This record gives sequence, C-alpha cells and structure tokens, in this order.
Amino acid sequence: MPEGHTIHRLARDLDELFTGSVVRASALQDKFAVGVAMLDGSTVTSTDAWGKHLFAQVAPAGERPKVWLHVHLGLYGKFPHGRGPAPAPWGQLRLRLESEQGWADLRGATACELLDEVARQQVIGRLGADPLRRRVDPDQPLARIARSRTPIGALLMDQAVVAGIGNVYRAEILFRHGIDPHRPGHDVTPEQWRELWADLQVLMRAGVRSGKIVTTRPEDRPRGRRTASTVRREDSHYVYRRAGEPCRTCGTPVATEAMVARNLFWCPKCQPE
Ligand SMILES: [Zn+2]
Repeated sequence: MPEGHTIHRLARDLDELFTGSVVRASALQDKFAVGVAMLDGSTVTSTDAWGKHLFAQVAPAGERPKVWLHVHLGLYGKFPHGRGPAPAPWGQLRLRLESEQGWADLRGATACELLDEVARQQVIGRLGADPLRRRVDPDQPLARIARSRTPIGALLMDQAVVAGIGNVYRAEILFRHGIDPHRPGHDVTPEQWRELWADLQVLMRAGVRSGKIVTTRPEDRPRGRRTASTVRREDSHYVYRRAGEPCRTCGTPVATEAMVARNLFWCPKCQPE
C-alpha cells in the first residue's frame, strides 16, 4: 500500500497537471459514471492530501457548487500520470483526467467519489495528525498514545492516530529511536514521541521529494552510496524486509512477526523490551 509520502507527491503532481485547467474526464468502467459526467468540463481549483487520502477540489461547469474528488488507493490502486497526450485507454479504467498539460489514469482504488465540503470534513475528522501537513501538533496523537495499552507498533499503523504511516515507516522509525514495537503506548515518553515525530517529518518530507523511502543514515550505508542519489534500494532500510539479516548496527538477526495484519520488523537488541 502506498504510504503518505506517495499520496502527497501525487497531490503535488496532479496540481501541476490540472489546477487551473478545464479537464476532460472519461472512464472505461461505469462504476463512477455520475462522477465522470460531473468532472468532465470542470475546472480543478486545488489538490490536497491528508494521510493516504487524496482530494482535488473542482468547480463543475455551469453554476454548480464546488465539490471534492476523493481518492483512496487502498492496497491495489494506481494513479499513473504524465505530461503530454494520454496513452490509449485500457483495462479497468475508473477515471481518466486530461488537461492541456497532461493526463492521469485511476485504476483499482478503494475509494473514488465526489464529496461536498461537509462530507470531506467527515473523512478528515476520522484521521489522525499527518506528519506531512503544516502546523500539526505532535501532542495531539500523543494524547491518545499516552493513555493506550496498545503496542506502539500497532498505534502507528492506526490512521485515526497518525495518518499516512505505513509498514515501512513504522518499522524504520521505531528502529531509529530504539523503541520495541511491542512497547505499550503509555510507556513511550513524551520526549521520545516528540523526537520520533520530528524525525518522521524529516524522513517523510524527503520521501515526498525523492519518491523513495530512505531511512538509513548516510554513515550506515556503504561508502560511495551515501548521498540521496547514489543510495541503493538494499541499503535504504535498517530492518524493513530484512528478517534474519544482521542488524546494520549490532549484527543481531532482524526479527519479524505479523502485527496489525502486516509484517513487522525490528532488532531485538537495538530495540530492547
Ligand atoms: Zn541491532
């Protein structure tokens, strides 16, 4: 599943391709036919992301009120896009948007719908703080974490606590702060949480810029692979998908188990109980 940085990057790309433009909308499926008809000929006025939710505000043709296109890609959704003319349409195309600048094709998304402002606020109201948004207070998620017996590894995946974290950032941020994923939320100190949050913001913003998740510190990568442009995929993470491999810091085999239906990875020595 794409993590928050992918959705924020997508919002930024769609902003460049569509904001301020009259768009043509089409589809090969009729699942979203009413929405496609409403979007066709509309003008995109802004794009936005909150966690893993993408929003594009559109002004429909005529004098109708603005609406929001809401997309959640889920596990299998894809939203490829590009400049210039669109490729020939194929497959389960839920929505195609085209403008003078470029195109975007949505397939396989969990959510693709039009919302008014009230309904959009309801979606956002169910979401926790998003580290990629400006003016976010880390003490807001802390209030929930501090009174929870749930393991921090599960709380980080709960979109109502923190919006946008997925399996990779969960494993990596806990490693970077030496926190055992099984530690109950109320045993994470406010200082630890605020440090973790600040670090998460830095890592996720870098993820938006590069489109990649790189969580290893340069000094923990092989020589010649230390800059953002030379780092290889296999050097990008401390523990994620490295089960059984030696920890980059202490050599202990990386452990794994399922938590919240996704594989969790951690170093039992660097992240002690
Ligand atoms: Zn270790």
